Amino acid sequence: MYRSDVVSSDAEPGDLVHVAVERRRAIGWALWSSASQIALRLVSTDRQVDESQLWRARLDRAAAYRASLQIDATAFRLVHGESDGLPGLIVDRYGDCLVVQALCQGMDRRLPALAEALTAIAAPRGILARNDPKVRRLEGLPELVEVLAGDVPDVVTVSEGPIRYEVDLRHGQKTGLFLDQRENHEAAARYGRGRALDAFTYAGGFALRLAPVCDSVLAFDSSDAAVAAATRHAASNGFTHVEVRAANVFDALRELEISGERFDTIVLDPPAFAKNKASVPRAVAGYKEINLRAMKLLSPGGHLISCSCSYHVPEELLQGILESAAADARATMVLVEKRMQARDHPVLVGMPETYYLKCFVLRRVV
Ligand code: SAH
Repeated sequence: MYRSDVVSSDAEPGDLVHVAVERRRAIGWALWSSASQIALRLVSTDRQVDESQLWRARLDRAAAYRASLQIDATAFRLVHGESDGLPGLIVDRYGDCLVVQALCQGMDRRLPALAEALTAIAAPRGILARNDPKVRRLEGLPELVEVLAGDVPDVVTVSEGPIRYEVDLRHGQKTGLFLDQRENHEAAARYGRGRALDAFTYAGGFALRLAPVCDSVLAFDSSDAAVAAATRHAASNGFTHVEVRAANVFDALRELEISGERFDTIVLDPPAFAKNKASVPRAVAGYKEINLRAMKLLSPGGHLISCSCSYHVPEELLQGILESAAADARATMVLVEKRMQARDHPVLVGMPETYYLKCFVLRRVV
């Protein structure tokens, strides 16, 4: 509920407040923010809530759901905010450590209690708060990284299927890895073959899953830290046919096209080009360009795995971009799979903002 909808309020930052429509029925209970445009985040539509049990019950439910997923990895998302009835709270598991993010005043205020409950549920070695995302500014909250419980080593080793990663929880992007792509990494391995290209590789997410089934893998990232991490992971997982290069993908794809290179498998997993509504037209141009170039580089019979994590570029828009890219590339493409974020990042029906990651698998026919 937005601030512009609030008629009157009497609450302290982060309070769990009773919400009612003026002179009419009650809506329920929500976390109040004194700063953000998102003034209220709905927690319960029950008449009464008992805070001494509410959060623990929600965390238990979130953990039980993850346990039911039979995830073949030691790193996954334990709590995905609103989708788990815990608005503004992220909890990721990395081996025996937990990383939490409190993205609203209500969760920030409750972090000590949440850390205690998480310790009881998951018995972690340590809990790190990665409270450095910029969105915390909108809540008037400081950006900081701190250990909330136990101890958290500089590097934590985790597995994702057959791949081992060494993750820097304090400095990595997001909470360390892009856990939302885990199931898409696995899916990519079902299509990968021949010569593969993983643009925007970060720590090697797609490249390393493609390596066992491909003759060679070329990976790009513009960040030196990402290139170093992906290179290390390729070596530590025993792959000698994975080459990681520091490059701007826009330039690199153009150069590969000029030199007439061809690939059998291409993955595009760029950062969110559209961070807000105003940047959608530019983002569309960016997605169009990389997809067009990738389709030109793709051999007939090859697969393109094309992702977008921009909430502001919805599925239908991305599909339209792919259609116009295929037309311009003079490539006959078929859509083989429409995928999304991994199941440990569920989408809350009725809250479209929680569906952000699209992953299309396309096959070039001719
Ligand atoms: N595919 C990865 C996640 C990619 S995140 C996985 O599955 O784990 C996006 C990555 O793109 C980041 O690592 C970022 O450094 C990189 N990046 C952003 N802009 C880029 C550009 N223009 N060229 C190359 N890499 C870029």
